Amino acid sequence: MNFVEIVVLAGGIGGARFLTGLKDALGDVTPASRITAVVNTGDDVTLHGMRICPDLDTVMYTLGGGIDPERGWGLAGESWRVKEELAAYGAEPTWFGLGDRDLATHLIRTRMLDAGYPLSQVTAALADRWQPGVELLPMSDQRVETHVVVTDPDSGRPAAIHFQEWWVRHRAELPASGFVQVGVDDARPAPGVAEAFARADAVLLAPSNPVVSIGTVLGVPGLRDALLATKGRVVGVSPIVGGGPVRGMADRCLPVVGVEVSAEGVGRHYGARSDGGLLDAWLVAPGDTADVPGVDVRQVPLLMSDPDATAALARAALDAAGV
Ligand code: GDP
Ligand code: CA
Repeated sequence: MNFVEIVVLAGGIGGARFLTGLKDALGDVTPASRITAVVNTGDDVTLHGMRICPDLDTVMYTLGGGIDPERGWGLAGESWRVKEELAAYGAEPTWFGLGDRDLATHLIRTRMLDAGYPLSQVTAALADRWQPGVELLPMSDQRVETHVVVTDPDSGRPAAIHFQEWWVRHRAELPASGFVQVGVDDARPAPGVAEAFARADAVLLAPSNPVVSIGTVLGVPGLRDALLATKGRVVGVSPIVGGGPVRGMADRCLPVVGVEVSAEGVGRHYGARSDGGLLDAWLVAPGDTADVPGVDVRQVPLLMSDPDATAALARAALDAAGV
């Protein structure tokens, strides 16, 4: 087989697990391949003076073997001394999980960003330690932060809060009326993103949150067009199985943007590439039917419950891409 180039759009946990399967699947068939992960940075936030990139870190730690597998985020063997000390000072916010080991990543990232390095170079420097085995690219070097439009309980007026506050602090339970990508107008795809699409044999949309992970990546001006310029097929994997997210709270985001919480709803939301959308193929779970006009819809097991099942899912995505 020839050298194979795959680009994956990814958020955090769904993206990270899918990428582990893809590494396994490609490792089986060919040593000559490159995977480029274009990762959501809309969840990024500055807390206690540190720049935190949750999705990039989840992908880097998972592929680098450092992740806490039960929690699905942060490092294994973590302790929480600094978080406890910050809370003892009454330093807000107290609701965000910051592990002692994890802090080193944020300190180095913040120091490099303050010294003027772009996030893409900072990410490469961090990945040098973790060796994720894929090219890890932030969607953009510019800051884009997802905010959620909620109703301010005091004034009754609309107010925008950072995505992390809505997601982590409020468990996505505050009614939301929209998402805003603060800074997106000034953003460009990070260096290497357009080039990766241009050389890709396939572009895969990981089973990540369609709104606040994949949707945010696609919202970077120019990125969607760069993706659609690929000569390869574009294959999406549904994060929705049997009418709900496999884990997490993606079901809270889809209705906000008027999308039905189903594999069909998300498939139609992405749309057919032949009809102004993105997809050539769409993978749904065996129990789900999805009518997405113009798209090759395939039923395959979608649960990434163990390494074999995850690699089999990735293999099915490569098959649908004709790779
Ligand atoms: P986050 O940034 O950590 O929230 O993670 P992502 O956006 O990458 O992924 C969240 C999505 O992953 C959720 O919508 C889940 O439904 C989906 N997901 C998690 N595990 C699985 C799985 O085993 N199979 C599939 N198909 N989707 C999954
Ligand atoms: Ca995320």
